[in-house]
Amino acid sequence: METTPYNPFQVAQSQFDKVAAVLELDEGVRELLRQPMREYQFTIPVRMDDGTVQVFKGFRVQHNDARGPAKGGIRFHPMETIDTVRALSMWMTWKCSVVDIPLGGGKGGVICDPHHLSQREQEQICRGWIRQIVKNVGPISDVPAPDVMTNGQHMLWMLDEFEAIHGGRYPGFITGKPVGMGGSLGRTEATGFGVVYTLREALKVLGLPLDRTVASVQGFGNVAQYAAQRYTQLGGTVVAISCWDQADKVSYTFRKKGGVCLQELRGIADKFGGIDKNRARDLGYEKMPGEAWLEQEVDILLPAALENQINRGNVGKIAKSVKVVAEGANGPTTPEADEVLKERGVFVLPDFLTNAGGVTCSYFEQVQCNANYFWEKDEVLAKLDTKMTSAFAAVNELASRQKLFMRDAAYMIAINRVAEAVRLRGWA
Ligand code: NAD
Repeated sequence: METTPYNPFQVAQSQFDKVAAVLELDEGVRELLRQPMREYQFTIPVRMDDGTVQVFKGFRVQHNDARGPAKGGIRFHPMETIDTVRALSMWMTWKCSVVDIPLGGGKGGVICDPHHLSQREQEQICRGWIRQIVKNVGPISDVPAPDVMTNGQHMLWMLDEFEAIHGGRYPGFITGKPVGMGGSLGRTEATGFGVVYTLREALKVLGLPLDRTVASVQGFGNVAQYAAQRYTQLGGTVVAISCWDQADKVSYTFRKKGGVCLQELRGIADKFGGIDKNRARDLGYEKMPGEAWLEQEVDILLPAALENQINRGNVGKIAKSVKVVAEGANGPTTPEADEVLKERGVFVLPDFLTNAGGVTCSYFEQVQCNANYFWEKDEVLAKLDTKMTSAFAAVNELASRQKLFMRDAAYMIAINRVAEAVRLRGWA
């Protein structure tokens, strides 16, 4: 039997088509928004350490920049495809729009596997990527950032190449830079803290005092750790955390009924967010199967690891006590599971709203760099809170007024804002 391979761009387009129909968008606007405005595909020749030349394939897709310069990460991945980059660039447009920051959506990539490349080879790929696209990116047109398998070092090499070509300093060209080299304080915490600012507002709407709620978390990486930190600081209790075990090649859930201690778990976690199972046992944690995080009798589920984690196969295992799913990860809930949660009346905080704290802080980085004036961490986090809170309020207001699921309301607001920008500019 033939199966159709998963194509993220087709998924992104069909999500868009559904909302466009509800919004009754004009045909021209629809046609413009359902595809990227610009796409670049290019070769990056690199002289490898062994003296041979290897040619890598690079991409940059600018889905839409009606609301501001395109914004989005650059992924290094051996399985990168143009359709993945297209889909991700479209999702970036909606994410920037739903939190109402003046940026559009973009994404980039290189087909490569950094595990098998030296630092020098990676630097050459970064510099080559810039040389091929330099005329089409920049602080006022398209602002890249780190993503899968790229980090602040890659961004600095790219920035350096861009500045060498232009003969000036343009720190606002790229975000995700290390602090001290134009990076923003608070960026490390931003996504996780943003998840909790949104969750805090949702709990207010539901009339649940946060300090009497209990949560179960999937993941113990950047997003999960800072979300759990902010949530417990506000008085919430995390009873279970699930993460990947690299040695056993399975995931486990670590549970402590009275509540986990983040500090001690951080002390026994590796840099990939894996928890040492033996040391966890010594500290009194119960080790359970990977999916057990989803079956806990808690008020809140916080998936912050991977996509497709709440699906048709396991959604039925979610306890009746669960009232909120706060999507820290991108795409953690499949459309089938989403329907089940909808029917059950679970309040789902959609990913592109809930985890938009990262891109919001990247926007703050860009603003600080362009002004060449850097804010204190408290100021960054306070501004982040304000942005996330008002984004939640707008989505929630529409959802309650029109009796919509939060995800649908978030899409409607995001797409409507971009459609309006396109119309006001006279593009369609
Ligand atoms: P990370 O690599 O720091 O952490 C990932 C965590 O997931 C690790 O603890 C790992 O052990 C765990 N994990 C992996 N496979 C698992 C499995 N099968 N079961 C249970 N746990 C598993 O990643 P991150 O930066 O925290 O990102 C997490 C999610 O949030 C991703 O979907 C990412 O796209 C999304 N996101 C991240 C940011 C950001 O700023 N970091 C922003 C927006 C969205």
